[in-house]
Amino acid sequence: MDALIGTIWVCVCCMLSHANGECCTDDDHGGDGIEPWSDLEPGHSVTMGLLDEEHGCHDDEGNRPDECDCECREFSKSRCDGCGSWLAGHRCAFALWRRVTRLPMSHVNIMALYATVS
Ligand SMILES: [Zn+2]
Ligand SMILES: [Zn+2]
Ligand SMILES: [Zn+2]
Repeated sequence: MDALIGTIWVCVCCMLSHANGECCTDDDHGGDGIEPWSDLEPGHSVTMGLLDEEHGCHDDEGNRPDECDCECREFSKSRCDGCGSWLAGHRCAFALWRRVTRLPMSHVNIMALYATVS
């Protein structure tokens, strides 16, 4: 079981690289060249979207519409929580989890190791 930390808001590069494994055609990443998810600490993982209870679109019976815009902010000047980029633009909601598995080498750890070597 992973422990939920909370909701984070990330830029389009972070969102795309999570969804597709890639985002931009070069290393520009919207202009500042910051690698997606470079601000994610080892031992943490993310899942795309907003947790059900974080939505603000429930009706009086607690039901949610099939589509809503709670998970996206059209324009934000806040820092991307995934990579630390300050580029203004779209922000998408992710849930941040802390891994509580005691495996010495989790997938995230290996990825972080790669990032520091390359
Ligand atoms: Zn990018
Ligand atoms: Zn919603
Ligand atoms: Zn980002």
